[in-house]
This record gives sequence, structure tokens and C-alpha cells, in this order.
Amino acid sequence: MSRLNVLCSCFMILDSVLTLADDVCLTILIEDSVEARNGARKRLIAKHGLSILAETRIDDTEICVLMDTGPSAEALLNNVDIMDVNPRKIDAIVLSHGHYDHTDGLIGALKGINKPTMIIAHPKIFAPKFAVRKKLKFIGSSFTQPMMENVGGVPLFASNPVEIAEDITTTGEIERKTTYEKLKGFFTIEQGQFVVDSIIDDQALIINLKSKGLVVVTGCAHAGVVNTTMHAQKITNTGKIHAVLGGFHLIDATDKRIQMTIDDLKRLKPKFLGPCHSTGKKQLKKLKKLLEIDVNH
Ligand SMILES: [Zn+2]
Ligand SMILES: [Zn+2]
Repeated sequence: MSRLNVLCSCFMILDSVLTLADDVCLTILIEDSVEARNGARKRLIAKHGLSILAETRIDDTEICVLMDTGPSAEALLNNVDIMDVNPRKIDAIVLSHGHYDHTDGLIGALKGINKPTMIIAHPKIFAPKFAVRKKLKFIGSSFTQPMMENVGGVPLFASNPVEIAEDITTTGEIERKTTYEKLKGFFTIEQGQFVVDSIIDDQALIINLKSKGLVVVTGCAHAGVVNTTMHAQKITNTGKIHAVLGGFHLIDATDKRIQMTIDDLKRLKPKFLGPCHSTGKKQLKKLKKLLEIDVNH
């Protein structure tokens, strides 16, 4: 069995800069926690949410894509400043889905970028979004499309994959094929009815490294991390997976689901795994334990 590595620096350290290959650099700008607090790290702000900057180069052209903006512009701009990222170099922003913990930093991010910037998302990104966590809560974005456009956001809302550059694409709507990656507790309004939300807008970012395979960056992976990875393989016609990182949404997963996720991830054979954000601390421990057990045998 091929070895799976958990990329430990990814899921707990907010200021990790991950060079996964010669031609892509991923910087985690917002994550739920900051592991080490000394020097400049002291001033970094952790928030429940996710924002990852992907920088790559094709020939002499630099491409810089921001995947999600976290839940707070204040936190995002603070961390961007401390981590010495120039927001003006961002070419496009991908919103993985319409939950506030991935979108609410957007208005401030656009003000920081201060130039017209494409916002790539699913057409249902502004659909009403609720969750029942002990009680009913609104968990959608706190801004509207006109507010986004007023600060330079240029909507590119499509349900199919959007090719941002050669070898960089969004997944578009993700096929739900596994039997165990089921959602619960999310709701929306459709035609005046309060109904279960399948979070159809959930999508990921794919960077296809020619020699190494796919780098799949998830937001919350509400569609399921295995479904997302398999969908990435399908739309790029590429079997080889180099890395899967981002939220794995295992926070309410049973032991059985975690085991089935592990089994499928082993079959998909990514070289790096970076579960963070919505993976859940307890679930992350189980994930690591199960992977280590396999590695040691
Ligand atoms: Zn979400
Ligand atoms: Zn999330």
C-alpha cells in the first residue's frame, strides 16, 4: 500500500507557507487556529473559516488566486499584512460556497485589492443558508451581490468548471457519488419552502501540476472530500493526485464514515493530505491515527 502523509504544518499553523512543488505555492491566510504564538505570529488572527492563496507561474505569467476570504476582513487584511502578501497581485477570487466563514472577508478583501476582480462562484452563492446547531442560525453571507459589485467584484457565476488559467480550474458543481458523504443540519428556502440544503454551490480549486498530479484545494468539502477528489480527476482527465487540502467537513462524522473516507483516500493515493478548518479536532486525531497505523504496518 502506498504511503499517505499528513501534512502537519497545514492544519494547525496559520502562517504556514506550503511549497508543494516548484510551480505552486499555497499560503494559508485564515484558519481556525494558530498553533505557535511567538514573534509576528502573535499578531496573526485565527478565525473559524478558511482562506488560501495559490500562486503559480505559467511561462513568464504569474497567476494568483485567492480561494475563499475567511469570515472577517479585519482578520484577513491583518494576516495579509503580517505575512507580507500584496493583495493587489490577486487576479481572481474563488468562493467555494456561500457560508459566511468562507465569504464574509470578501468586501474588505476587494477594498484591499482596489481594482476590478473576478469573483468566481456558483450561481447559488447568495441563496439563503441556514443551519440548525441546537437552534436555527443564518449562516449565509452578510453582504449582497450589489454590495460586492460596488467595491469592484466582477461576478463570474457558473455551475460548471471555470478555467482560470492553463491547468488551474474550479470544479464547478461536484457529483455526489459516495454513499457515506451525507450532509445534515443545513437548510435553505426554495420556492417559498424551508427545505434541506444540499449545498449544491460547494466547489473546489484544482491546480494540475504536470509532473506531479492534481492539487485539490477544498473550502469546506460539503460535497465530501472523496467526491471532490474524484470529481477533480474526472474533469481534468487526470488520475494522479498530488495533494488534497482544506476543510474536509468531518466535524460531525461517525467513526464509520471516517474509516470509509480513509479507505477511499488510500485508494486515491494523494502524496499530501492537509485536513484543516471543518475537519474537526477529534476527527483529525482519528484520521492521523488511522493513517499512522497503516503506515506503520
Ligand atoms: Zn460551509
Ligand atoms: Zn467552512
